[in-house]
Order: sequence, then C-alpha cells, then structure tokens
Amino acid sequence: MQIELVAGDITERHVDAIVNAANSGLLGGAGVDGAIHRVGGPEVLAACRELRAGPLRDGLPTGQAVATTAGRLPARWVIHTVGPVYAADSDRSALLRSCYVASLRVADVLGAATVAFPLISAGVYGWPVQDAIRQALTALRAADTWVATARLVLFDDSRLELAQQVLNQPR
Ligand code: ADP
Repeated sequence: MQIELVAGDITERHVDAIVNAANSGLLGGAGVDGAIHRVGGPEVLAACRELRAGPLRDGLPTGQAVATTAGRLPARWVIHTVGPVYAADSDRSALLRSCYVASLRVADVLGAATVAFPLISAGVYGWPVQDAIRQALTALRAADTWVATARLVLFDDSRLELAQQVLNQPR
C-alpha cells in the first residue's frame, strides 16, 4: 500500500472512503466528526442512527470501525472509527493503531482502493501530535490490506511538515 501525506480538509477528498475520527455514540461531535456530518448531511446521520438502533446499540467500541454512506461528500463511504482518549498514565497506543487497521479491514470489505485518514485522536482526544503521526504510520506500514493508497490528511502545513519528517526518519 502506498502512503501519501497531504494537508487540508478531509471532507474535500475525492477518494473511495474517508475515515471519521468519531466518538462511540456515532451521532456527530466536534472536530473532523462535525465537519464530516456537516458536509455529508442527513444521510450520514440517518445511517449512523440506524447502526445505533440495530447492531451498535451500545455504540462503537474504541479501536473498531464501521462504514456508512458518505451522503453528499465526494467520497463513496465514510468509515467511522473511535480513537482512544490520550492518557499519560496508560499506554493506549495499540487501540490507536487498531483504528487504522480496523478501518482498512472495513475498506477491504467495501472494495475501497483509496482511503483518506485524519490524524485520529490528535484533536479533542488530546494525543500528542508527533506520536499520533508515528502511531498512524506504524499501523499503516504494517497493514495487510488490498487498499492501494492510504492518504493521511494533516489539517495544516506545520503538521504536514512534521509528518514528512517522521515518514523520512530511519526506522
Ligand atoms: P479526536 O476526537 O479523535 O481527537 P478530532 O476531530 O478532534 O478527533 O481531531 C482529529 C484530527 O483531525 C486532529 O488532528 C484535527 O486537527 C483534525 N481535523 C479536524 N477537522 C479536520 C478536517 N476537516 N479535515 C482534516 N482533519 C481535521
């Protein structure tokens, strides 16, 4: 799988699927979640409500992923995943990496060849940005998937520069 780094707004990405850093309630929230629901419109919310009424009655567990329509977004699907809240006193990084892996697994089932990811947990959930980038790249590099291109969408140029540095660091 090819990994690309870009800056900008994930809701504008013309890819097969965009990943949403959702919360377990799946009914919208702040940050990228709010943006995706705003642009995706009522169809995305309706699909999330349906999941909550059926298979995900108790919400989506942290580290797991589920797909819905992308509504009015240019992508075909939204893959919702729930990142862990950062905690300095416990290592939740396996759950963070699991978000990327689980999202790719859902993408495989959908037949999505291009998938755009936000930097999961690095907003309201407080994950330090550089480590969030490192976890994302570690998970994406190791993933066993049919997805051809994963695009990590950094929200601004300074984060993009940081991500490029992390990507180019010797492993
Ligand atoms: P979390 O609750 O997982 O921390 P947030 O939505 O608060 O989720 O932030 C996740 C990441 O998405 C952050 O790095 C934030 O800067 C970024 N972000 C917020 N809005 C957008 C957007 N429209 N496009 C791309 N990235 C975004």
